Amino acid sequence: MRLVLFGPPGAGKGTQAQRLVAEHKIPQISTGDILRAAIKAGSALGTKAKGFMDQGKLVPDDVVIGIIEERTQQPDCATGFMLDGFPRTIPQAEALDAMLAKRQQRVDHVLSLEVDDAVLVKRLSRRRTCPVCGTIYHLDFSPPRQENTCDRDGATLAHRSDDQEAAIQERLRVFHDQTAPLKAYYQQRGLLRAVDGSGAPDAVYQGIRTVLAR
Ligand code: AMP
Repeated sequence: MRLVLFGPPGAGKGTQAQRLVAEHKIPQISTGDILRAAIKAGSALGTKAKGFMDQGKLVPDDVVIGIIEERTQQPDCATGFMLDGFPRTIPQAEALDAMLAKRQQRVDHVLSLEVDDAVLVKRLSRRRTCPVCGTIYHLDFSPPRQENTCDRDGATLAHRSDDQEAAIQERLRVFHDQTAPLKAYYQQRGLLRAVDGSGAPDAVYQGIRTVLAR
């Protein structure tokens, strides 16, 4: 199964992706995670991406398309994959369709997590992530047992540089401007599955299971 997980920043893509991966045994491919790893490693890709990311802007299409082209050809993607945070523009969606068509493949479902902006800002500004295992916390709704410390591995939690107020506003603006038009793109192709993303993670996952079973 080839899935696209679509939604604004803070909609819960990463949280739901972890559940989908566990149930469907397909790899999660997050362009954001790949870019953050590149920044941490100090690679040329990371250097190129960092300025855009810190400001909440999109990294250029050719960069992320190249990442996806390469990653989806790895052996673990043979039976499918879940894209988290890609595509984010119409040219990215077109490039994805073209690269899959060349391999006689296609996207099966686009899960769209629907959440209001006010809820997103609250979620993002209070979000913390473990830089080691990727577990996502929220200081009010799912806090770690010990302050600022990952329950799983004891690492100090990070507040992403683009989860600060100014970058959050810019990311939402970019989403409405450049990414939201993808909904119509996938709707026209009969692939869009809208899910209410405003509830607790378990309730949202139930919604995902329901639309995938239809
Ligand atoms: P995310 O972790 O998905 O919220 O992505 C964090 C940041 O990485 C975004 O704000 C962009 O700067 C960059 N990024 C991730 N995926 C993409 C993409 N598909 N296209 C352009 N930029 C991206």
